[in-house]
Amino acid sequence: MKYIVSIMIIIGLIVAGGFIFFTKDSQENEPSTINHVQAKDLDREWIIDIESGMTFSDICEQAGLEHGTMLEMVEASSEVYDLTKVRVGRKIKFYFDRETNNFVKMIYPIDTEEELFITPTEEGFLAERKEIEYEVIVKTAQGTINSSLYESAMEQEIDIRAIIDLAEIFSWTIDFGVGIRQGDTYKFIFEERYRNGEYVMPGKIVAAKFVNDGRLVEGYYFSASPVATAEGSEDEDGVLVDGYYDLSGESLQRIFLKNPVEFRYISSGYTTGPRYIAEFSAYTSSHRAIDYVAAIGTPVRAVGDGTVTSAGWNSGGYGNLIKLRHNETYGTNYAHLSKIYVQAGQHVTQGDVIGAVGSTGYSTGPHLHYEMVQNGTKINSLTIEFPASDGVAEDKMEEFSQAILKWQEQLNN
Ligand SMILES: [Zn+2]
Repeated sequence: MKYIVSIMIIIGLIVAGGFIFFTKDSQENEPSTINHVQAKDLDREWIIDIESGMTFSDICEQAGLEHGTMLEMVEASSEVYDLTKVRVGRKIKFYFDRETNNFVKMIYPIDTEEELFITPTEEGFLAERKEIEYEVIVKTAQGTINSSLYESAMEQEIDIRAIIDLAEIFSWTIDFGVGIRQGDTYKFIFEERYRNGEYVMPGKIVAAKFVNDGRLVEGYYFSASPVATAEGSEDEDGVLVDGYYDLSGESLQRIFLKNPVEFRYISSGYTTGPRYIAEFSAYTSSHRAIDYVAAIGTPVRAVGDGTVTSAGWNSGGYGNLIKLRHNETYGTNYAHLSKIYVQAGQHVTQGDVIGAVGSTGYSTGPHLHYEMVQNGTKINSLTIEFPASDGVAEDKMEEFSQAILKWQEQLNN
């Protein structure tokens, strides 16, 4: 899901066109002297690039390991990682003792965070997942948008992955597809990851601010410190809570309001099968919407922050119709309204009253016909699951305020 969203954003950034002017600062703290005991000084290192169609068996054969040894390794690691599913494009490393030529260990990169280590012991092979420890340098980047994010990130040699992360942090509050304005500014503090003194990738963004169309949004990364328990250190639910929050501790990951209106009952749910739709006096293939029955004049609220893409009469049966675009991915439509309080182009905030329930268009009685659209497809708003968006817990606010103090100063100086 996260990956898909990132791809969507990058496509959006490419389409948006234009460029941004980047400046990089805080070049201090470059890794200067890092003393590593290089494994290759002691052992012979054998690196294999995993190519398409290669199995773990092929890889071990290339490394000169016997078939039986390979099977033992797969068996030993089955609890922690399935070696039959090694991924194309990864580099797998084998180490052998220079003198005896005995197999010493194998390292496979599981992802950007963990590696699988397999080492022979007297009781057979030991398989362990180990967290990758990067050397981290904190940097700051800032810029003014003249046109598109992507192009200038390339021009200014800012790692595009950091820009994707930045866009993702604000994806619920800023519309990176159509909402970016010339003169928008941003600044963010982020980590760069190095291994053995060599740059690998951007790490997390710790703090960021963005001024979009004159509107300032700030986000701070926060991971509440674990609560010490008898079993160890986890929070009450055994989960570490982390994410991006604004100064008041509200999550930047805004989920939508469950319902846009206070209703009496739902008269038509979401269906994809053929059904007679009374409101359109016709058979349609489906009713990809929710009908909320409520009195005429009942306030209709925007389920999320967004921009009004259209507001007015629809002759196709919807009557008075408002369409909102929330971000790159989601939009919502509100039909049969008796009143419309917004105009196209207007920015709305979650919970704003945008119209009133009515029975205009092809409608058999007062109700709100509500549609949620995801990447152009109408989806069931009642069953879709959104990422959790709890704010910082009240008893963690003190800790949060302390944690972000330094970043706040750095962002705003
Ligand atoms: Zn309907």
